[in-house]
Amino acid sequence: MSAMEKSVEERIDRLQAGGIIDLHFDLLIDLYEKRDRPGVLASHFLPEFEAGGIGVLGVAIYVEDRYLPEMGLRVALDQVARLHAEVERTERFAICKTFAEIEQARAAHKIALVITMEGVEPLGDDLNLLRTFYELGLRSVGLTHARRNAAGSGGIFKPSGSPRDGLTNFGRDLVGECERLGIIIDLAHINPKGFEEIVDLTSKPLIVSHTNARKFYNIERNISDEQIKIVGQRGGVVGVNAILVSPDPKTSTLDRYVDHIEHVAGLVGIDGVGIGFDFCEYLFQQLPESVRAELAAKLTTPHFIPELTNHSHARNLTCKLIERGFSDEEIEKILRGNWVRILKEL
Ligand SMILES: [Zn+2]
Repeated sequence: MSAMEKSVEERIDRLQAGGIIDLHFDLLIDLYEKRDRPGVLASHFLPEFEAGGIGVLGVAIYVEDRYLPEMGLRVALDQVARLHAEVERTERFAICKTFAEIEQARAAHKIALVITMEGVEPLGDDLNLLRTFYELGLRSVGLTHARRNAAGSGGIFKPSGSPRDGLTNFGRDLVGECERLGIIIDLAHINPKGFEEIVDLTSKPLIVSHTNARKFYNIERNISDEQIKIVGQRGGVVGVNAILVSPDPKTSTLDRYVDHIEHVAGLVGIDGVGIGFDFCEYLFQQLPESVRAELAAKLTTPHFIPELTNHSHARNLTCKLIERGFSDEEIEKILRGNWVRILKEL
């Protein structure tokens, strides 16, 4: 290794020392599906998290179509149970409900896990259940995935054509209750009208845990420059997603991922951008070909970035941010600092 390479490696080590924060990871689906294979968190995921220097992860409760509606609540509760069972098997993780718990976990060299929910299908239309999940540790809620539910509708994976209606009465009540309890509202996936309504109904910082700029991939599931500016004005953070950086596999590159970071920072400043990798290649590869085709028809085909496909690749991003001329202070904010500002509210 040359002296220059060595100094870059040292700089990456220094920048990642505080631990990268990724606020969207579909871990719970996998733990649930592999419930007869205990230990998968420690055997499969931990080495990747460690290689990538991951410090805090938002881990999502998400219920797939095939379980809905009857099994939604049950599967969601089982996902939380599986997380506890897996965390118990190793010393290296802690499920955290407050910022103080996150700090304690980090000080003890543990990876802090914050439970999130992607689509409120598990709640049905029962607001009381939000309180139940809050007690279980739920600290961030995205009202919808792509589909419609009792709270509202998701944005579709096309430039236009999402349902024009906004939130339902239940959706509006839910937003109020999230703010009251101290659950962060996540605008990822919500349709444009729902986005607008949530902005009007709330006063705390809003986040978009995992999304991309429509400038580079123009679909309503992603966010427009106007929406990015609103999140920025509210002191929020946009987490940049690694699977929808471009409609074209040829330009689904690490440089394009950084283009999204630069674009958000250009619109709202460096304080408004963070990481929401949404790594799901491992889930995708486990699906039978027919299900993949079905998903592609219903949503879209994700284009995975070769050098940024799982958490062990996070160093590649840090290296690229250095190469693209970001300062240490800026990189620290992107990788960690901006999400810390949001998590301090917990
Ligand atoms: Zn998502």
